[in-house]
Amino acid sequence: MKAQEPTGNVDPDEIRKFAKMADKWWDPDGEMKPLHQINPLRLRFIEKHSPLTGSKALDVGCGGGLLSEAMAMAGAEVTGIDMAEASLDVAESHAAESGATVQYARIPVEELAAELPEQFDVVTCMEMLEHVPDPTSVIHACARLARPGGKLFFSTLNRNPKAFALAIVGAEYILGMLPRGTHDYSKFIKPSELDRWIRDAGLELTDITGIHYNPLLQQYKLADNVDVNYIMACVKPA
Ligand code: SAH
Repeated sequence: MKAQEPTGNVDPDEIRKFAKMADKWWDPDGEMKPLHQINPLRLRFIEKHSPLTGSKALDVGCGGGLLSEAMAMAGAEVTGIDMAEASLDVAESHAAESGATVQYARIPVEELAAELPEQFDVVTCMEMLEHVPDPTSVIHACARLARPGGKLFFSTLNRNPKAFALAIVGAEYILGMLPRGTHDYSKFIKPSELDRWIRDAGLELTDITGIHYNPLLQQYKLADNVDVNYIMACVKPA
């Protein structure tokens, strides 16, 4: 897999934003704390739908490799891709220390889909669709990368006044859990939209769960309510 210059479906401002935070990926109390907190929950959700041991998994928009490493530790052979070189460097050095085996590459997902179609049992794309110019193109590429019968997981933020209040005003301005400007409300995605896009990509929705934050307990849990943050599980029909 070779490094390529970004295609049209990469927002350079977004990549710069994450690259600037790269040294914070593995600080459990830093800017990425929410991702550290939801990591075991989303891993459990993935494993409920697709056992990871012995599977080939692809983590799209892997950042510093939080989920990639967790899936590798759970027994998957993992490839992680992102467009932020600095984040991939952090991911690689962390894996070297932790002993996790993950192959990282800087390549647009659309390009990987042309190189390795139908290669993966599991494709994850977490908290990434709301940062790209054309999320449907990412979903189509993920669908192409999954083998028939493979499982795919997409997580993002819902678009409604409550999500605006909690994910932007609350998380970025009141609680300071995320740096200001992390999220752009207009890029949030309603479950009905994501559902339509995955169907257009030939996938079938199998499950959806909300990721719910309790500010008093400062804890996350999976819940039926998908008003704010949510994960969709889908299958590529065999
Ligand atoms: N999926 C990881 C990181 C989420 S943060 C996790 O949930 O732990 C969003 C990530 O998407 C960042 O690492 C950012 O660099 C990446 N990203 C944004 N646009 C991208 C694109 N067009 N292609 C690949 N990665 C992208």
